[in-house]
Amino acid sequence: MTEPPRKRMVKPPSGGLEGGRAKPARLKTAKQRTPSQQAWLERQVNDPFAAKARAMGYRSRAAFKLTEIDDRFRFLKPGARVIDLGLAPGGWTQVAIERGVTNIAGVDLLPVEPLPPAHILQMDFTDPECGPRLKELLGGAADVVMSDMAPNTVGHKQTDHLRIMGLIEAAADFAREVLKPGGVFVTKAFQGGGTTELIGDLKRHFAEVRNVKPKASRQDSSEVFIVATGFKGR
Ligand code: SAM
Repeated sequence: MTEPPRKRMVKPPSGGLEGGRAKPARLKTAKQRTPSQQAWLERQVNDPFAAKARAMGYRSRAAFKLTEIDDRFRFLKPGARVIDLGLAPGGWTQVAIERGVTNIAGVDLLPVEPLPPAHILQMDFTDPECGPRLKELLGGAADVVMSDMAPNTVGHKQTDHLRIMGLIEAAADFAREVLKPGGVFVTKAFQGGGTTELIGDLKRHFAEVRNVKPKASRQDSSEVFIVATGFKGR
């Protein structure tokens, strides 16, 4: 009997993540999937970062975004107190733990499989109870507040933009409240209205503010990450 062909899902295309893309796989349209779910699934199957994440045991391709950001700024250190906002399914927390962080508290609307030693809350970050509970779990001022939160879009451009900016501003306010002097704030943001103002605002509170577009962030997305280092204190 001939052996069935090997699946290519766990091995990125030769030439690394950036080059040598294989012909994209097409999936049969399942009756239960909407066209947008189908498109997401096809993109996922053909995405070298998603394949690499599966092969390396990361719960999400987002892990590579934080890996690249931390390789550059080096804030995930053993002994650091870290808060992860919007952590599901857990890729960023996995990277933090891998880099020696043992004191980490995170929150998401969605349930998250345990990731010891991380403390995980399932609740809305904008709930006034959330901040105090995260602080209590961390047991002291934070060295790092990182947020990859992104609300579900409703399809109305202005509404979606306002919701996203609202979450980012709430994360920035929380960072200013909980960080110790010298601390670091990392947040997902989107190019366009509001982000420039946010950067301007952060520059008053942090020694340096940088805009980063990691390789794993889809090039066709307006997603960027803002890394603010050297918190000046309250
Ligand atoms: N960083 C994660 C990782 O590495 O696996 C991926 C985060 S995912 C891009 C964005 C997350 O933000 C979603 O899981 C979503 O549920 C969460 N989120 C959106 N709004 C939120 C809110 N108000 N409170 C808590 N989590 C929220």
